[in-house]
Amino acid sequence: MWDLTARRSINASAIGYQALPLAVVALALLPLLLSTAVGFYSYSITTFFADTLGFLAGVGAMTAIIVWFGGKNMKALPLEPYIIISILFLTYSLTHIMHLRGTFLAFYALVLMLGIFQIRLSAFVRCAVLAYSAYAGLCLWIALDPQDSRTVKMMIVQNVILAIVLFSMVLFARYHQRIRYQLKARWDDLERHQEDLRHVMRQLEAQVITDELTGLRNRRYFLQIANEALHRLGHGRMHGLALIDMDFFKQINDQFGHGIGDLVLKTFADVGVACLREQDVLARYGGEEFVLLLPFSDPQQLVGCCERLRQAFSETVFEHADLGTLTVSIGMSLVLTGRTLDESLLLADQALYRAKRNGRNRCEISWES
Ligand code: GH3
Ligand code: MG
Ligand code: MG
Repeated sequence: MWDLTARRSINASAIGYQALPLAVVALALLPLLLSTAVGFYSYSITTFFADTLGFLAGVGAMTAIIVWFGGKNMKALPLEPYIIISILFLTYSLTHIMHLRGTFLAFYALVLMLGIFQIRLSAFVRCAVLAYSAYAGLCLWIALDPQDSRTVKMMIVQNVILAIVLFSMVLFARYHQRIRYQLKARWDDLERHQEDLRHVMRQLEAQVITDELTGLRNRRYFLQIANEALHRLGHGRMHGLALIDMDFFKQINDQFGHGIGDLVLKTFADVGVACLREQDVLARYGGEEFVLLLPFSDPQQLVGCCERLRQAFSETVFEHADLGTLTVSIGMSLVLTGRTLDESLLLADQALYRAKRNGRNRCEISWES
């Protein structure tokens, strides 16, 4: 299944979001730089440096204030203040750029373009209105001086073009934002579905390894766990293994019915779980037979645990029917390196057979005592 976390990494790397304020500032400086380079800047080189340094100092001071008030939790610098300060500086630069003014008008659009995917639509509209008002104000201010009619006409055309460009950008930003909301809604839906699927998968996984009647692990899961435990065994270490079989269980079924038989099996599972440590694995091996794995236990611990379990079950009182004393027989073996799990299970089975033959309600070992 496609992991939706991939989306987060795409977002995080989106056009180097952290670098955008820097790019906006650099773009705002370019007209001044280029016009000075080609000699179209109406002031001296000293004024050029003063303007540039003044702008950078302003940007620096603004950044310091933003960082100060933003605090530690601020993930990235907000782009809008940088766009605003850049638009204002751009307008200031254009007042001194004489004939190239119309050409550098494109920089309003460029500065705004960097924010089109990153700032909210309302903020984008604010910035676009500011850009237009700033340039229109500049033209008005220039037009107040006696001008020839061609210059005024040219400025009117520039204003119309700027208005069209900015308006188109606002429309595009609006369209983009709408698409983004729709996509976000779909992603949220997908994430919800994925969570549902994960939930169902967890349930299925639990069902596959669980015995429905007793809630214990089933045989398949036990064999998998036991084999893994065998492979983890270091030299000289061992696990305890035991096969547990109900005594005369068929009689309980015959006498009291299968329902009561099932209840006895469930009760044994509860008693077993209560007797064991968290790392021990008790599983239903099949029918009225159970299997137990005690990881990293020695023979003494295994015998102690099985005796405790046998004793606890024989002392269990059933409220639903007078079943008398119910017992189990247990055969024990050890899981060792150099021996397969099947061999260990066979040894436990042989010990269980001996326990049955020797009178039931007892534990038998498969090793020399
Ligand atoms: P022994 O002491 O020799 O083990 O005798 P037993 O009667 O316990 O052994 P046997 O193997 O003859 O009988 C096991 C019975 O367990 C037979 C079967 O009907 C019953 N059984 C197996 N699975 C279930 C189950 O899920 N629920 C119930 N109620 N009975 C089951
Ligand atoms: Mg049996
Ligand atoms: Mg039995």
